[in-house]
Amino acid sequence: NAYMNGYLGSDLSNSGFGLLWDFIIVHETGHEWFGNSLTADDMADLWIHEGFTTYTEVLYTQSLSGKAAADSFMQGTLDRIENNSPVVGIYGVRNEGSSDMYPKGAALIHMMRLTIGDDELFSSTLRKMVAHFRHGYINTPALLNFWNTQTGKNFNKMFSQYLSTTQVPVLEWRKDKKWIYYRWTRCIDGFNMPVEVQTSCNRLVKLEPTTEWKKIACRNATLTAAGNYYIEIKRID
Ligand SMILES: [Zn+2]
Repeated sequence: NAYMNGYLGSDLSNSGFGLLWDFIIVHETGHEWFGNSLTADDMADLWIHEGFTTYTEVLYTQSLSGKAAADSFMQGTLDRIENNSPVVGIYGVRNEGSSDMYPKGAALIHMMRLTIGDDELFSSTLRKMVAHFRHGYINTPALLNFWNTQTGKNFNKMFSQYLSTTQVPVLEWRKDKKWIYYRWTRCIDGFNMPVEVQTSCNRLVKLEPTTEWKKIACRNATLTAAGNYYIEIKRID
């Protein structure tokens, strides 16, 4: 790394926070867990190595510089996603997924954390996963099953959406005098990721959109996403 901070002296996240530490040391140390201890049993699942290791950079930033810095670093990481081809490769033929396995893999993990909504539970589940699969093989279905079981959430649709497609889901919304209506579009059938939004009624609201219209009471409102969800929000009226 030419004895420089960041990645060869530059900050992949463009947030500035990536220049406070040596990328190679932090990233490659993350691989002691994700890659060396837990190893994907098929190259198609390399996102488990690179996504989780990229997320260790976010966690390291949080530990070093605080939550707002980690959010900024995460936002910069989302900007690296290209969506040329899916994160997961083709199984059984030594085929890697796209280089989005780094930032988009981390984005999926971040959205799992937001969906859990409890950083203690997120951290303890991450530690349990590392212990459970220690010095062994792992794959996407086993990982998914582990997180569903440990957290009581169901991440199936999020995994399909973000690992197997290149679509960025759109949270569509419109309003009338009394209600905000919202739904997911540009997504797989049954996509149901919960999302926290800021309404101009000045409160954070956790929505549970589906691909069918739902509504919340909110007069004269606008709606923006809170946190770093990898989605688009589009008003359609
Ligand atoms: Zn790596």
